[in-house]
Amino acid sequence: MDTPFTATCTCIFCKHAASLSFTAEQGTCIAFPDKYPVTEGHLLIIPKRHAPDYFSLTAEEKKDADALLHRLKDDILQKDPSVTGFNIGINNGYDAGQTVFHCHIHLIPRRKGDCENPRGGVRGVIPGKRGY
Ligand code: AMP
Ligand code: ZN
Repeated sequence: MDTPFTATCTCIFCKHAASLSFTAEQGTCIAFPDKYPVTEGHLLIIPKRHAPDYFSLTAEEKKDADALLHRLKDDILQKDPSVTGFNIGINNGYDAGQTVFHCHIHLIPRRKGDCENPRGGVRGVIPGKRGY
């Protein structure tokens, strides 16, 4: 696999790209399970190349990431009929909540009743602003 990882790179996600133990691959991108999943099946999609955020991705990386999102969504729905929705999210920048500075797209499966009131979803990035 063509990987940008080098021995001097300390990024934990570059190490994932180099490990070959990921879940799926599409051209310039891979996907693997989130180590601290929000729900069962929570995946992260990343470019193989170290890029700090979504706005640094090339057109090809965005196309491959989107194809992976669709493939993995189909795969999850086929394997787990309890999944009835998804959140897709990207934190861009420290002030937006990003903690790992290698671009990653969260694909979070959702199930009926997995929280008391799902209304507003990703609006919950600001606590208290989810409902409207
Ligand atoms: P963010 O806050 O958007 O930067 O998300 C970083 C995500 O990376 C979190 O959901 C973590 O659970 C996840 N994470 C942290 N370390 C690892 C790791 N070694 N392998 C997989 N996922 C990780
Ligand atoms: Zn990296």
